[in-house]
Parts: sequence; C-alpha cells; structure tokens
Amino acid sequence: MHEPTALLAQIAAQVRPLLTHGDLPQYIPRLAQVKKAQFGMALATLDGREAVAGDADVPFSIQSISKLFALMLALERAGDTLWRRVGKEPSGMAFNELVQVDQERGATRNPFINAGALVVTDVLCSHFAQPELALLQALRSHSSDEAVDIDQAVFRSERDSCHRNAAIAHLLKSYERIDNDVEVVLDTYCRQCALTMSCRQIARNALALAASGDAVAEQGGRGLSAAQRQTVNALMLTCGTYNAAGDFAARIGLPLKSGVGGGIVAVMPGVGALCAWSPGLDAAGNSVAAGRAIELFAQQMGLSVLGSSKQHLT
Ligand code: GLU
Repeated sequence: MHEPTALLAQIAAQVRPLLTHGDLPQYIPRLAQVKKAQFGMALATLDGREAVAGDADVPFSIQSISKLFALMLALERAGDTLWRRVGKEPSGMAFNELVQVDQERGATRNPFINAGALVVTDVLCSHFAQPELALLQALRSHSSDEAVDIDQAVFRSERDSCHRNAAIAHLLKSYERIDNDVEVVLDTYCRQCALTMSCRQIARNALALAASGDAVAEQGGRGLSAAQRQTVNALMLTCGTYNAAGDFAARIGLPLKSGVGGGIVAVMPGVGALCAWSPGLDAAGNSVAAGRAIELFAQQMGLSVLGSSKQHLT
C-alpha cells in the first residue's frame, strides 16, 4: 500500500540529481531559454483523488502532448472515420521525418508523428471555425481550470521557424492528404503546440483515457468509446515517446505521451493518469527526470500493463 502524496514526494527527491541532466530543444528558440532545474508531478485517480509534488502547478509548453489532446478531440468529433486518414503503426523514424511521407505517398503512420498530427489538425480545422479555441475550451473544461492558455511567444517562436513542418504540410497537400489551407493548418498546429498547461491540468485531461469499461461521462470519459480509448492507449504505448517507445514499454509498460517541453503523461488503465515534467531532454527527446519519475512510480505500484504485480493506493 502506498500513500500517494508521500510516494510522489519520495520520487521527487529521488530524481532531484537528474534535474541538471539532458538538453533543451534548440530548434524552438523560446524553449531553449527555459530554466532546466524544475520538476513537477501530478496524479489524478478515477476515484477522484489528486496528489502532487514539486512544480506540479507551474505551466509549461506541452508541445507534442497536444497531439494527444488534438487526437481525442478529433475522435470525438469525426469518430472512427479519422482512421481512414491516419495510421496506427510506429514509424521507426524521427517525429518530424519527411522522406517517409513522400515514400509512402502522403500516408501518415500514426497521429503522434508530425505528419500524422498535421492531418489530425486538418480534421479539426474542417470541424471547427476556430479549432485552437475549441481545443483550448475542451482542455479548460476538463481541467476545471480556466488558466490553460496558449503562450504567444512560444507560438511566434515556433511559427517563424517551422520550416520542416511547413515542408511536411506542403508535401501532404501535394498528395491531397490535407483539405484546408496549409498556412491555416500550420498556424493551428503551432498554436496547439504552444499550449501551456501544468502537470495537474494535463493529468486531469488524460484521466478520461484511464476509464474502464463503458464508464464514460461520470469519469470524464468524454465522447470516447471504450474501443477508442483502447486504441489511443495502444498508440501511446507504441508511438508516444518518439523512437524510445520500445524501451519505455519495457521499462514502464504504460501508455505515455511525451513532448519536447519536458512533459510526459502516463495513462494507468483502471487507475488514473500521471503527468511529470522537467525540461532536460535525452537524445530521443524525452525528459530525463520525468521519464525516470514515471518509471519509479510504475515500478513501486507494479503498474506495467505488461507485468503482473499491481499494488494499491491507501
Ligand atoms: N512543436 C514541435 C514540432 O512540431 C513538437 C515537438 C514535440 O514535442 O515532439 O516540432
């Protein structure tokens, strides 16, 4: 049995030596200036409890974690027709790979690489007059917190330097895989990447994915069916942590989504959601301290969906 607040405090202390490790993402100038020695962690459980440690309420740039939230909103809106446009396979390539998109004639492997995420954003652009506002409202509502916002400085910084994403988007358009104006899709994509949220807000938003069975509304399961939640969780497990997904599956064994802002969110099916954040990234682009913190939590609780030693919270 583990008391969650004490467990999170213990893990925060254990990862403290790692806060100087890793690098900041230099390709987004604004993120390269963030203070590295920060760490936060938040747990939200299906039975309505929360526990936090460190900088759990400090907002940070969620970057690719937005791909998860955009996917959830697009699935709610477009339903399973979305899968006609985006695949469910790991790419085995960098998240911003261009050549594979061309080789596969505009097919996108999964919604967590940039090509797939741009198609998901395109779907949102088709369904909402102001897609970034629709996303913002959904995130605020599921956070029960109006403070979720878009950091305009991060948006400008990325929009002005998103040449590679622009190349991917134009390539997709050349294969008629994007319906809307490329500039509109890029604007929306860069805004969603510039969302700022805290660990607590992210954990609350991911909680829907932990809901079991058909329990939807009362557990914040939102408009996603049990089968859709299972699909999203499978994609997180296999594609959520860049090219380290196999290693993370072995070490942690939970659906995860990572962002270059240093956040990692974990879904614990049937239990809850956990988000950890620390800006220093490893070579694959995953936060060193946040990854280790989630690993320690999963180990202590025996949570790996691939293992068999589940513990319980008191
Ligand atoms: N905005 C970043 C990009 O598109 C997201 C990177 C990430 O967090 O994976 O390059």
